[in-house]
Amino acid sequence: MTKIHINLNQNSYDIFIGSNICHKISEFLEGKNYSKIILITDRNLAKLHLEQFEHKVSKTNLLIKKIILDAGENSKNFTNLEKITEEALNLHIDRKSLIIAFGGGVIGDISGFSASILLRGIDFIQVPTTLLAMTDSSVGGKTAINSNCGKNLIGSFYQPKLVICDLDFLHSLPDRDFLSGYAEVVKYGLITDLKFFEFLEKNIDRIKARDAKILEEIVAKSCKIKANVVAQDEKEYGLRRILNFGHTFGHIFETETNYSGEILHGEAVAIGMVLAAKMSQDLGLLSKNDVERIKSHLKEANLPVSAYNVRKKWNEDSLTTHLYKDKKIKNNALTFI
Ligand code: NAD
Repeated sequence: MTKIHINLNQNSYDIFIGSNICHKISEFLEGKNYSKIILITDRNLAKLHLEQFEHKVSKTNLLIKKIILDAGENSKNFTNLEKITEEALNLHIDRKSLIIAFGGGVIGDISGFSASILLRGIDFIQVPTTLLAMTDSSVGGKTAINSNCGKNLIGSFYQPKLVICDLDFLHSLPDRDFLSGYAEVVKYGLITDLKFFEFLEKNIDRIKARDAKILEEIVAKSCKIKANVVAQDEKEYGLRRILNFGHTFGHIFETETNYSGEILHGEAVAIGMVLAAKMSQDLGLLSKNDVERIKSHLKEANLPVSAYNVRKKWNEDSLTTHLYKDKKIKNNALTFI
């Protein structure tokens, strides 16, 4: 098991990574005096793992409610935010109540946001169950729901009290979701650590086979890279923007497909990273060989490297409109990483 301490002064917390480690939650709960626990998950997780997982939490007799949302990006909406917050308030939660987010990035984001606004902030812990959530969305404290105007536009910075990445959950993850999460792992290598990218190139077959040892290494390394960036720039005034590599372009395809699942977040990021790399090449900042190397690794990981791998035809005007709705726009100028 690997433990990573995220140092954010009074918002510091630990991330545990390993196999069969959900018992860490009971250990954590023992040291606290929470009054009530609300567990939030989605229907897929509820079918596959909830009974077993619940067991680990219910030992404390504090679990008073399970809220099960539909799976998928469209659940990060106002209706579900209202459902979670109203249900929690109807159960008379107090400032010593706790939310546990059990699921992928969708569940983590909406649960974290709910925790941040309930009674002006109650504790929450994350138990991410997708590769994307383990390596990205559960680290860094961004929480959000989507708006009709775009993705993640309503949210807050709010840190969890604990993150448990139990790698055993990854065995049931569909291939497409697993690889979508892997795109963010590749991103960490590309933005900060050539050696890590080389390690990924060398081990791609073991990664695709979901070898437990290699998964622990790549999840831990990804968390460390993200944590290190976030520790230097928690609220994204500068350095943290490098984490958006591939996202400015990626978001436009997610918006155009209405977060329908036609393109997954990581798939959009993979395409976005290739576009950003090509843009860098056009600007004379990156060699053709490096662009090809990035593309070739993503292809080997069975990720799309062009939006045309997803759809034969796109409405270019519409894509451009989405680009200018990016929330990172400053003084009318887009930022590209
Ligand atoms: P997700 O939460 O929709 O999960 C993907 C699918 O996998 C869902 O159908 C889910 O039910 C299923 N699933 C989850 N765990 C499973 C398991 N162990 N076995 C079988 N099925 C499982 O999507 P995601 O890719 O985890 O996260 C994407 C979301 O994360 C997006 O909304 C994105 O905006 C957000 N995100 C947030 C941050 C952040 O910093 N907060 C960073 C990156 C992405």
